[in-house]
Amino acid sequence: LTPTTVAFADRHGVEYALPDAAADAQVRADDRAHVFHSWSAQKQIDPLPVAGGDGATFWDYSGKRYLDFSSQLVNLNLGHQHPDLVAAIQNQAGRLATIQPAMASDVRGELARRIAGVAPGDLERVFFTNGGADANEFAVRMARRVTGRRTVLAAYRSYHGGSGTPIALTGDPRRWANEPGDPSVKHFFGPYLYRSAFSATTETEETRRALEHLENVIVLEGASTIAAIVLETIVGTNGVLVPPPGYLPGVRALCDKYGIVYIADEVMVGFGRTGHWFAVDGFDVTPDLITFAKGVNSGYVPLGGVIISERIASFFDDVVFPGGLTYSGHPLACAAGIATFEVFERDGILERVRDLGSRVVEPTVRGWLERHPSLGEVRGSGLFWALELVRDRDTREPLVPFNATGADAAPMGEVAAACKVAGLWPFMHFNRMHIAPPLVISEEDLVRGLAIIDDALTVADRY
Ligand code: PLP
Repeated sequence: LTPTTVAFADRHGVEYALPDAAADAQVRADDRAHVFHSWSAQKQIDPLPVAGGDGATFWDYSGKRYLDFSSQLVNLNLGHQHPDLVAAIQNQAGRLATIQPAMASDVRGELARRIAGVAPGDLERVFFTNGGADANEFAVRMARRVTGRRTVLAAYRSYHGGSGTPIALTGDPRRWANEPGDPSVKHFFGPYLYRSAFSATTETEETRRALEHLENVIVLEGASTIAAIVLETIVGTNGVLVPPPGYLPGVRALCDKYGIVYIADEVMVGFGRTGHWFAVDGFDVTPDLITFAKGVNSGYVPLGGVIISERIASFFDDVVFPGGLTYSGHPLACAAGIATFEVFERDGILERVRDLGSRVVEPTVRGWLERHPSLGEVRGSGLFWALELVRDRDTREPLVPFNATGADAAPMGEVAAACKVAGLWPFMHFNRMHIAPPLVISEEDLVRGLAIIDDALTVADRY
């Protein structure tokens, strides 16, 4: 993984002559002077200028190549510059680049039909948004309108987006600076056996106690006031928390018992990350609303949405739905979404994710538990895994405190740096490293990337 010093062309014939120090300097200068970055103290960050990408790899202006084990923000499911997605966008741009949402469009209709075709149960209609936060915003609005209730329950250790109601739903430190947000949002504990809020020692116990706790919250907050429960099917940035069997069906049953709308946030896990179209497919549960974004078109053009059950959609047959966005169902984004379906079906992406996850990733990371004392727990599904790093296995003290300032807080920053030097771009969050490469990664690159992480963990073992 030494820097490329010769000119090369990617598979689309785009030519790069790297290193290009002048371009690197210009990108850095413009970025520093004029780009205001999210979730950051502006002077404390040093964004990497990226020159190009292809598949599971991207490179900087020095020619250094990185295996993208974070799929950018866990959105790049089909990898960088997928030829089918690029062609679909180019083709659509030449035909009809934009059309407003009150008109009907072939690509918007086809994508909605395809999404409905793979969504569980009677989730047949799709409201398109620009991303995940607004999908959750509108899902909550639908639930409130349909139930005539206002309170919404969401889990601690969750992330639902950076704007308005979604940041209020979020159950992690990103919410704090935005408080008081939406006073009708209340939080509860979901299952997390490794750090059980219920002192449980088995999955069965954790499931039972988490459901008892949720029912207590519902009853004490006033069941008749609760519009919705919003839940990431597998918690994403807060730790790839896979719910134990029985938990999600139990949530479904509580929602039915109390007339509450069940909103599954599948923004990160939807569209193949766990080897299913939707992660709920792996838990045999049908929510009332599913929110999605990211993987629907790998983020090539911003797109998200809400998949709506007929019961909720038909409420609005003769009642106005109060909401909308200029770019709802943008044709370029929808064209990339249709191409995504074609690639998934033609290349067997879901099967590939289940195979690589269970045959390559799972045995490898579970095997690390025997050699790396810094690993407290590994957990995941498909191509979505978390390594939870601890100072001490017995006390489970995290390697960095919860809410350590930034993902680069030492010593996690040292682990990340070791990965980057070796040519792998990791996904770090507090005391966790997540493994979330593009779903199209070759087995060879997957194995190579895992070996880089294996080496980098020796840095954490020293603490
Ligand atoms: N929901 C979940 C589970 C997410 O992981 C994210 C983003 O990471 C969002 C919502 C917000 O999506 P967006 O950033 O597209 O608004």
